[in-house]
Order: sequence, then structure tokens, then C-alpha cells
Amino acid sequence: MKVTDHIHKSKKPLFSFEILPPLKGKSIQSIYDGIDPLMEFGPKFVNVTYHREEFVYKERENGLLEKIAIRKRPGTVGICAAIMNRYDVDAVPHLICGGFSKEETENALIDLQFLGIDNILALRGDSIKTESSFRPHKYGHKYAVDLVNQVSDMNRGNYLVEDIKLEPTDFCIGAAGYPEKHFEAMNLSTDLQYLKDKVDAGADYIVTQMFFNNAKYFEFIDACRAIGIEVPIIPGLKPIKTLNHISFLPKFFQIDYPEELSRELLKCKKNEDVTQLGIEWGIHQSKELKEAGVPCIHYYTMSNSSSVRAIAEEIF
Ligand code: FAD
Repeated sequence: MKVTDHIHKSKKPLFSFEILPPLKGKSIQSIYDGIDPLMEFGPKFVNVTYHREEFVYKERENGLLEKIAIRKRPGTVGICAAIMNRYDVDAVPHLICGGFSKEETENALIDLQFLGIDNILALRGDSIKTESSFRPHKYGHKYAVDLVNQVSDMNRGNYLVEDIKLEPTDFCIGAAGYPEKHFEAMNLSTDLQYLKDKVDAGADYIVTQMFFNNAKYFEFIDACRAIGIEVPIIPGLKPIKTLNHISFLPKFFQIDYPEELSRELLKCKKNEDVTQLGIEWGIHQSKELKEAGVPCIHYYTMSNSSSVRAIAEEIF
């Protein structure tokens, strides 16, 4: 079932979460171990991230270095199928532009349709770690809006090369939004305009980047509505968990901690202190968002569901 149908059917905010495929070589049991503790809270959909290739240099016998592409976390589509089969819940694969030609994207979408997957989250993807900026595939898409357009075209029966209409797909399309602006955007208003382009191209709903200050989310909603973005906007929350997160999350995701939270974070001496504070802050944010009547609260587990479980126990 489509994410938007779940939202429209529900009278209260839904619970959903995102997981990462395990590192290559780890079994799918590690995924189930993360999902099992969250199932009693009735998630309607589970997102599975997509991780593109990284380049490593391997020394050959002749002493020369060889550049090799490896994917450390493969398996997004297989995990989606396994989740739907095991838990009878909808899985939402993340589909990225990076590394894919348009034809490969089309074929991936056909695979997803055959598996009975109704939803995708359409993203540009980040640059490869060793590249300073995002480089699109030679025959691929530069921006997420182009990917949204491709999926929308398939939903109308327009595939890439055929000049006759084919069987239309029926994907529900999600897109990413950034309450604190995407890090490459010139300013929030250009970023919002590009977000509107994604919605105009066919995105059915938006999931936000993590934020720790609900006021930023509410301002973002107002700004989106003011320029005519009408689709549901799902807030994404991440419980802070370790001392390392204190600097890593703002740096990596270009988000700010509100002053009250940063004051409390400064008092933390060990990981356990941060974990406890992250849970308390997550409960505080979730309560306020729930009271405001958001369509769903989406949690980033980053493959560790214990904090999300502690929050869900209080909220759902
Ligand atoms: P876009 O919407 O294409 O925007 C990228 C930048 O380009 C923005 O600064 C925007 O303002 C600008 N822009 C957009 N359109 C245009 C245009 N026409 N002309 C000029 N500028 C334009 N990454 C992964 O690799 N795998 C994942 O699984 C993944 N999951 C995510 C889930 C969520 C909920 C979120 C919020 C992010 C996720 N990301 C993931 C990260 C995401 O891929 C990056 O943030 C990426 O840098 C931007 O993706 P986007 O889809 O927002 O891109």
C-alpha cells in the first residue's frame, strides 16, 4: 500500500523508521534484530537506505596502487523484499541518481514493481566519499527532480525508448526536504523552490532531514505551504546517541542543535549520558509533533533501534 494511503487512512500520526543495509558479509539477521523490537508499535512502512560505491586503493604485487570500486552496504532491494515478506509491512527503498544510468533506473523500477513494492524515496544521493562534489552518471540524472520525473513518466506508461505507451507503474514517490536548507543550496528559498519542482514533477510526499528544533520544522511547513507545496511533510527525527554525534551530526547533516539541547549536551561525560539525553529530547520533540498533528513521525535508527524503541514506548 502507498505511504500516502496509509497517511490518509490514519486518524493519528503514524510511526515509521529507516534502516541501513548491513555491512557486506553480515547476515540479514542483524536487520531483523533491529526491526523486531520496533514492530509492536505498528510501523506502516520501513525505509531502507541506498549506499553507492566507494573507491579504495589496493596495492598490487608490482607496488602500484589499483583503484577499486566497492559497495560496503549492498542489498537494499533484497532487504525490502525480505522485510515485506517477514513482517507484512510496506518497505520503501531509497532510489538515488548517483551511479545509475536512466536505463538502469528504469530496470530497477521494473524489479521493484515485480516485487510488489509500491513506494520509493527518490533522491539525488551524496557525492562519492573521494569526490568533492556530486557527479552524475554520464547517462543518468543530475538532480532528484529528474528522477521524480522519470518515475512519474513510468506511472503514466511512458518508458525510456519505446514510443508507444506501456503498462503504467503505480509508485508512490517520496522526496527529501531540508528544514535547515540543503548544504549546497544558495539559500532556503531557492532550496524550497527546487523542492516545489519535485512536488510538481510528481512527488507525493516529503520526508525531512533530521532536525532537533521543532520550531524549524514548523517554519519549514509554513514556508512550503506559502509557495503551494500541499503534500504531506513527514518530520524525520534522530535520537543522538554518542559523544561523537555531538559534533558529527551538525557537521555531516548541516543542522544546528538548539541552545537548550547544546547546554545539556555539554554536561554529558560518557556515551550513556548522551544516549539518555537523546531519548529524552526525542520524546520531547515527538510529543510536540504528535500534538501538532503531523502525518507521521519517521525515525532514523542508523541500525540501532534501542533509543527509537525507548521513544516509541512513550509516544505510540
Ligand atoms: P536534490 O533535490 O536534487 O537537491 C540537491 C541540491 O541541488 C540542493 O541543494 C538543491 O537546492 C539543488 N537543486 C535541486 N534542483 C536543482 C536544479 N534544478 N538546479 C540547481 N540546483 C538544484 N543519500 C543516499 O546516498 N542514500 C540514501 O539512502 C539517502 N537517504 C536519505 C533520506 C532522507 C530522508 C534525506 C533527507 C536524505 C537522504 N540522503 C540519502 C541524502 C541525500 O541524497 C543528500 O542530501 C543529497 O545531497 C541531496 O539529495 P536530494 O534528493 O535532496 O537532492
